[in-house]
Amino acid sequence: MQINFDNKINEIIKILALEAERFGVKIYFIGGLVRDVLMGKKPLDIDILVEGDAIEFVQSLGDFVQIKSLHKDFGTIKTQILDVDIDFASTRKEIYPISGCLPTVEKIGCKLEEDLIRRDFTINAMAFLINPNLDFTLVDKFSGQEDLKKGILRLLHDNSIIDDPTRILRGLDFELRFNFKFDSNAQKLIQEYLKAPNREGLSVDRVILTLRKLFCSPDRAQKAFREFLKRNYYKILFDKCDLNYSEIEKAVSLFSPENLSEVYINYIFAQNIEKKEFKNRVEIYKYFKTLNVEDLCVYWAKTKDDNAILYFNKLKNVELKISGQDLLNLGFKQGKIFGEIFDALLEAKLADNCDIESFEDEIEFVKNNFLK
Ligand code: ATP
Repeated sequence: MQINFDNKINEIIKILALEAERFGVKIYFIGGLVRDVLMGKKPLDIDILVEGDAIEFVQSLGDFVQIKSLHKDFGTIKTQILDVDIDFASTRKEIYPISGCLPTVEKIGCKLEEDLIRRDFTINAMAFLINPNLDFTLVDKFSGQEDLKKGILRLLHDNSIIDDPTRILRGLDFELRFNFKFDSNAQKLIQEYLKAPNREGLSVDRVILTLRKLFCSPDRAQKAFREFLKRNYYKILFDKCDLNYSEIEKAVSLFSPENLSEVYINYIFAQNIEKKEFKNRVEIYKYFKTLNVEDLCVYWAKTKDDNAILYFNKLKNVELKISGQDLLNLGFKQGKIFGEIFDALLEAKLADNCDIESFEDEIEFVKNNFLK
């Protein structure tokens, strides 16, 4: 099997293959790259799996490689070779001492098959053996290619979801991206897990990272969030939730946030958000100014506070043009009066039909109200 890389990447791969032969290790393309190539897509990231110790292999390559970072415990190493980013990983055997925790690496440099079985789905557990002739041999120990043709997401073993429930979310992402389906066994294991999740050791950080990926595509984020709720996948995190698809969608349509992923994640984790009491527009302005538009969405979804809409539609672009220096120039002495002047000016500018626009208008306002 050939891969449609550009010439520079082909040259790099050829050199790596020859070096691997010399070093005495087998190297493979792995995971998403293999899946994407078999689906006829151009690979985006280049991930190379070394059947052995990737760090030792990369270090043996000398100046040819620029090492960006390395993670000894996991045997992974990020590099740049002739300006191309290439990530290397050692084959590794992992165990999950507690459901949902981050895995412990039991062995670095294990056999390829032991590495493949720790992966999420059969479609992501295939490898291409890298040869200097650039004709790559598919290694498909779990019939991933057949599942890819059928559009099926099949787990590699029955403990997979208990080990790492974020695989449920990764699966949803692949369902929506590729129009695939969990096979019946995966569906059964997911349902069983959601009935009795053990969250004691759950890595919430990893759940958030996976959610970020799930909601990152603007085309799919809304659908992904709807399915996340409909299928009760929030149970990975909580027993109960008061999340409501239509209220957050309404918020999204009102405030048009750029980062939908942040909106959904903040909404999922938002607790105890209550409607604020404001005495006037200055308070409204000052409070909402501290929130980004994603948080504004979540606040509104939780409270339906019309002041959030007032702020967003009418107040948010109001800015004072004068500074403390201008007040000093007018003869004021630094102190409490500065705050009083700024608040009064802000209040005037936040009012409907305000005609204080330019710098000169603001100076005029201060003179009229504070120097007479
Ligand atoms: P894409 O980057 O296109 O979303 P990908 O499959 O390459 O897809 P990554 O998150 O980069 O996604 O993961 C690379 C590979 O690592 C996967 O193909 C899979 O083999 C493995 N992997 C990633 N996350 C998990 C997980 N939670 N459990 C098991 N294996 C995983």
